Order: sequence, then C-alpha cells, then structure tokens
Amino acid sequence: MIDIQNVRKSFGDLEVLKGIDLTVERGEVVTVIGGSGSGKSTLLTCINGLEPINGGKITIDGTEVHARSTDLNKLRTKVGIVFQQFNAFPHLTVMENVTLAPRKVLGMGRAEAEAIAEKQLRHVGLADKLSTYPSRLSGGQQQRMAIARALAMSPGYMLFDEVTSALDPQLVGEVLETLKMLAEEGMTMILVTHEMSFARDVSDRVAFFHKGVMAEIGAPDQLFGAPRHPETQAFLSKVR
Ligand code: ATP
Ligand code: MG
Repeated sequence: MIDIQNVRKSFGDLEVLKGIDLTVERGEVVTVIGGSGSGKSTLLTCINGLEPINGGKITIDGTEVHARSTDLNKLRTKVGIVFQQFNAFPHLTVMENVTLAPRKVLGMGRAEAEAIAEKQLRHVGLADKLSTYPSRLSGGQQQRMAIARALAMSPGYMLFDEVTSALDPQLVGEVLETLKMLAEEGMTMILVTHEMSFARDVSDRVAFFHKGVMAEIGAPDQLFGAPRHPETQAFLSKVR
C-alpha cells in the first residue's frame, strides 16, 4: 500500500503540493490528471524519494519514504518509475539496458538477469529487439523498453509520468496497450496522463490536481461523467 498523508512540498517559496492525502491499495490503478504545473510529476518524484518533502508522510508497505533510516535504493527497487523522456544508455543494447539494474543493484548473475529481461521484453512485445541499440527503436518501442527495464526489478508498484506525451500520435496506442495489460494483470500503479479516454478505461480511481491540491478524486465514471469540483469541470471541458 502507498499511503500519502498531508504531503507538502515546496521549491523555494513556491508550494507545489499543499497537503496531499491519497492511499493506493494493492492492485489499484490510480490516474492523476490536471493542468500543467499542478504538481502531478512532483508527487511521483516524492513517492519514490527522488525529492524530499516539507511536511506530511509517505509510507510504502510500512516503510516511511523520507525517514532518515530508509534505504532509498532498496525502496526504489520496489517502486518502478517511467518518465516522459526516455533515458536509455545509447551504447548498450536493449538487453544490456534491461539487465543493468538487476545485475548492479540486485546483484543478479548474468544468466538470471538475462532470463528475466527476456521475459519482460517479450511481455512488452520486444522479444525480437534484444540485441538492438536504443537509437534503432521507434519512440513507442523505446518507451516499452523503459517499461520492461522497470519491470525487470520486479517492483511491487509502478509510477508512470506521461509516458506517451513525447510520442508521435501513431505510437501512443501501443504504449497505452502495454499499460493496460499491466493494469489487467493487477499491477499497482499511479499514472499521470493526458489521455482522458485511456484514464477512464483503465483506472479504478482518477484524481484531479489543481494548483497543488487534489481537488477531486473518484471513480472514472463519476469524475469524467459528473465532476463535482468546478475546476475539474473547467479542465475537462478544455481537454475534451
Ligand atoms: P505538467 O503537466 O506540465 O507536467 P505537473 O503537474 O507535472 O505539470 P510539476 O512538474 O509537478 O507539474 O511542477 C509543479 C510546479 O513546481 C511547477 O510550478 C514547476 O515549475 C515547479 N517545479 C517542478 N520541479 C521543480 C524544481 N526541480 N525546481 C523548482 N521548481 C520546480
Ligand atoms: Mg509533469
């Protein structure tokens, strides 16, 4: 379970998370939507400890993320994150990119790491690209590789930050299909997305962020069909 309690986060004088409360249960898919600068990405980077927080508490399976005693490297093996901008090692093959963290961070032997990597790459439809270099992949294939790379660590949770936003429109679908497959398999995930029909389709709950506040959260049919907060209504009328 990811338990976020009254989390506050500032960059200098700018408070970008103003007391966020959110609990994500095992197997749940929560989508975060909202305008630019509303704090969506910041929330994800706080959850896996990439950013410190200024108040409140985030607990993952009982481990307090920002406690001094927490081993963040260990915690991050449990919480995979995939960003909008793809960041592969260009001089390594797809297989080498995916086996790197299992070998270096988990201390896995080559054979075991390669077996896991191959399984995950097959899972995302890249079984025929193992010895290819990232620059030879399409944008959609690169993002699927990034997803396989995160999955190779066997995380209990996955965080996705607008993983389709940098893609050409014709490549968006294949990546959304991969995310949907993970959701159907029961992966616990928090997704930030601008793909509203996808969010409606795949989420257990949708959270709307506005100026650092979670203005509204609800089941997709409620949030998209009958938004309660005026800002949610205004946002949805702009993006649809
Ligand atoms: P978008 O939809 O454009 O990705 P977002 O909801 O993800 O927006 P955040 O990236 O979380 O928004 O940013 C929230 C606010 O915090 C913005 O005003 C942004 O400029 C600011 N911010 C984010 N990261 C930093 C940083 N490292 N240093 C200073 N300010 C930052
Ligand atoms: Mg963002």
